[in-house]
Amino acid sequence: MADLTAVVHGAAELATATGELGGDDPAGIHSGAAVAVVDGEVAAVGPTDEVTREYPPENAAHDVDATGRAVIPGYVDSHTHACFAGDRSDEFEAKLRGTTYGELLASGGGIHRTVRATRAASDEELVDNLLDQLDVMVAHGTTTVEVKSGYGLDTETELRMLDVIDRADRRHPVDVVPTFMGAHAVPRDYEGSSDPVDADDYVDRVVDEQLPAVEKQGIAEFCDVFCDEGAFTVDQSRRVLEAGAGRGLTPKVHAEELAHRGGAKLGAEVGAASADHLLHATDEDVAALVEADVTPVLLPGTAFGLGADYADGRAMVDTGAPVAVATDFNPNCHSQSMGFAAALACVEMGLTPAEALVATTRNGARALDRPDLGVVREGAPADLAVLDAPSHVHVPYSYGVNRVATVLKDGRPVVGPEWTGERDTDSEGGR
Ligand SMILES: [Zn+2]
Repeated sequence: MADLTAVVHGAAELATATGELGGDDPAGIHSGAAVAVVDGEVAAVGPTDEVTREYPPENAAHDVDATGRAVIPGYVDSHTHACFAGDRSDEFEAKLRGTTYGELLASGGGIHRTVRATRAASDEELVDNLLDQLDVMVAHGTTTVEVKSGYGLDTETELRMLDVIDRADRRHPVDVVPTFMGAHAVPRDYEGSSDPVDADDYVDRVVDEQLPAVEKQGIAEFCDVFCDEGAFTVDQSRRVLEAGAGRGLTPKVHAEELAHRGGAKLGAEVGAASADHLLHATDEDVAALVEADVTPVLLPGTAFGLGADYADGRAMVDTGAPVAVATDFNPNCHSQSMGFAAALACVEMGLTPAEALVATTRNGARALDRPDLGVVREGAPADLAVLDAPSHVHVPYSYGVNRVATVLKDGRPVVGPEWTGERDTDSEGGR
């Protein structure tokens, strides 16, 4: 017999995120709505009296009273570097005093410092760190998150990071999507040798050593590359992404963040799932992405942290691009909050709150090739966030404040009053 997992009822507003960006109702709003969840999937969406007649809340394992509140899909954070060790808060202070990120990098700080700390950390430390990040994320409404490797920059540590990501996924209710990013930076040293590493030689190692091992390990789904000034050229990036695709990994690309180098067009050419950052993307780049069905992912938190300009999200949405917004959570952009990213998308990029909702939910899922996520509709997994506010507009309106009160993952409370503190997806015996 089917199990009535949950009934969420009385919502002042249910934002289903099923409308079109640029359309009249991108957020797909229902007023006075309820959602019934059977066996973890949405079984009914509609007016509270109709839904509760067929699915009485008192018969559900979880009766979620959302009276006066808004219900939205759980956030899908499609771009993070959440697996790492070490603390770089002092670099935040240094940047505030005027040191540039380039200067930090040149002196062995920035990503190189995180690489040293990550290589030195034990697997257990890395798993615990990532579980802590996932706890913060789910408390802010994220139910699915992509996490990249890329702080190993050698075969052993890259494989270790992917294994850590996989272990954290099994132990936490948030679904974690693993991406291999051996081409995150050119390492300062490789496997014990402190001789300067040439970028082309390192790309050889990514292609000839790391990717075969990653394929054999069988965890990563995507292969990402930092195609930018000071990182990898378009030709080097193409080699990595094509080799990754040959080993079953869908391409993704960090493109046009620091300068215009052609990463967006490369993403279109190789059929990437997403091209991310796009601060310096041209209209032509965006048209190429739309034509090739590549999701443009904007990361306003990074621009905020660096005091940089923002990508022109408004113009992209106006050309019909299916824009996603993600956190880019990493030691250089230390915010796990999709609500804060949505606020920046509104204030700094010109999206409406409804567009920002779609960008942080359904289009985030699009960037991860998971079209069933990020929406509230019959048959979809019941990943939902209940806000302590009457509408989705209160997310960006309450910038800096977490309005998420309750989170359901597959219809089961994982944050909020009904949550028992038990992680019932935990297959490794708790933390
Ligand atoms: Zn990134």
